[in-house]
Amino acid sequence: MGKRGTVKERFIRYFARAERVDDCLIWPLSKDKRGGYGYIGISTDRCERAHVISYLIHKGAIPQGMLVRHTCDNPPCVNPDHLILGTIGDNNKDAQERRLSRSPPENRLLQIFLLERWGMTKAAIGRVVNIHESCVHRLLRGQTRPHLRARFEAILRQADF
Ligand SMILES: [Zn+2]
Repeated sequence: MGKRGTVKERFIRYFARAERVDDCLIWPLSKDKRGGYGYIGISTDRCERAHVISYLIHKGAIPQGMLVRHTCDNPPCVNPDHLILGTIGDNNKDAQERRLSRSPPENRLLQIFLLERWGMTKAAIGRVVNIHESCVHRLLRGQTRPHLRARFEAILRQADF
């Protein structure tokens, strides 16, 4: 375990410091200049949007083809009650979200590794990302796409998820 704690532990610590504005919980760390989304570092050279991590921690996995949207239209908000899953089509006004939805399948695979790390069964992971349990198994074992497994192992080691 890293000296700053796991990503989950750090998220929960910062989450407790979020400022409540109306009913929104405003992420206390850095926000990006364009979209105003909050970010949290998940490894030495990698950040993830705080509202996405909030969704993963509080509500669960993000199925293939879906993305996390704000019902409050407030990008730095990490209140799980304001986060819902949407499709790419739901978001055609928001260029930032559109870019996220086009993000490479690597992000989905990283999620598979994360969820396994957090104790979800391969069958459950398969259901949420919409691939067969045996494919999840092979990915996690490095039998398919071994280069990705090696990369994610490095990310997860660094990030201490
Ligand atoms: Zn909100």
